[in-house]
Amino acid sequence: MRFTRRKKPSNQIRIAEERINRLFDLCNEAVKRNRQDLADRYAEIAKKISMKYKVKLPKEFNRRICKKCGCFLTPGINLRVRLNKNLITYTCLNCGSIRRFRRENK
Ligand SMILES: [Zn+2]
Repeated sequence: MRFTRRKKPSNQIRIAEERINRLFDLCNEAVKRNRQDLADRYAEIAKKISMKYKVKLPKEFNRRICKKCGCFLTPGINLRVRLNKNLITYTCLNCGSIRRFRRENK
């Protein structure tokens, strides 16, 4: 198809963003109800939406999805957060992959 690589119409992007935010809420709710399987599924859907509509996942959501195994990470459950001088280290306790982020402000 010819225009597949073009940006999607703005109204679709807005809906995609809303759905992503909704899925983030659902992920948190699922974890609260001990349904990690559901949270992982929602995270996967959100990731797909963000790729399809080329919208970025909100920072706090993006960091909560393991890049390697795709599971939804919750501190104290399957995510270990360590603060260093300038870095935050996120360790996925599911697959052991490590991501580092720069610490902002302060
Ligand atoms: Zn992982």
